[in-house]
Order: sequence, then structure tokens, then C-alpha cells
Amino acid sequence: MSSDIVERLRATYTVWNNPPSPELPEGAGVMLEAAAEIERLRGQEAANKLNAAQVVALRAEIERLRAALVGARLALSQGAVASCECLTKTPDPEVHAVNCRYRILMLGERAVSAALGEQEVRDEN
Ligand SMILES: [Zn+2]
Repeated sequence: MSSDIVERLRATYTVWNNPPSPELPEGAGVMLEAAAEIERLRGQEAANKLNAAQVVALRAEIERLRAALVGARLALSQGAVASCECLTKTPDPEVHAVNCRYRILMLGERAVSAALGEQEVRDEN
């Protein structure tokens, strides 16, 4: 006989109900329900394991994207140094000309910082 509990429950039910009897022991039907419930829980467990693997993969993906954003933010903020083309003497990018390179780079840096969930890096000059 198989050692699998689901198969053993069903096999025992079959033995008890052979030949088919209208007066089965009280627990007979419950054995079939238990077998079905165990199968349902096994399916759920398998799904949970799959979900756990997906979470691990997503975390790795998030870390990869975060590293890329950190690199992009650094490139934007370094690229913004001395990049003003509109001769505005303030670090606030929003008062620079719309097409000023400094403004474009700093607003990009601000957007990347926001995506990283961090305080924007302020130019102190
Ligand atoms: Zn400018």
C-alpha cells in the first residue's frame, strides 16, 4: 500500500465500501473529505512556495533597479555642475530657463531621488 496519506484514506474507504454498502461506518465519508482537504492544502502550499520564490526574485530586481537609479542620480547631479546655460545664479532649478541644461539635469535628479524615496540632494552653492 502506498505511504501517501491521501491514497491510504481513499483506499481504506474503498475497502470499507466494497461491496457498496448503505451502512458504512460513520467515519467513512469523513475520510474522503479529509483526503480532499489534504489535497487542497498541498496545492495551497505549492502555490505559497511559488509565491515565496517570486518575492525573492522581485527583491533582487528591486535591488538591481535601485542600484541603477543611484548611479543615474549621481550622473545627473555631477553632470549638472557648472551646466547652467541661462546665467541664473541660484541653485533652485525651477527658476532657470525652461531649456537650461542645469534645470533639466537637476529636475531629472530630483525625479530620480523621489523614485528612490529619498530627500532630494540640494546643491549647497
Ligand atoms: Zn540656468
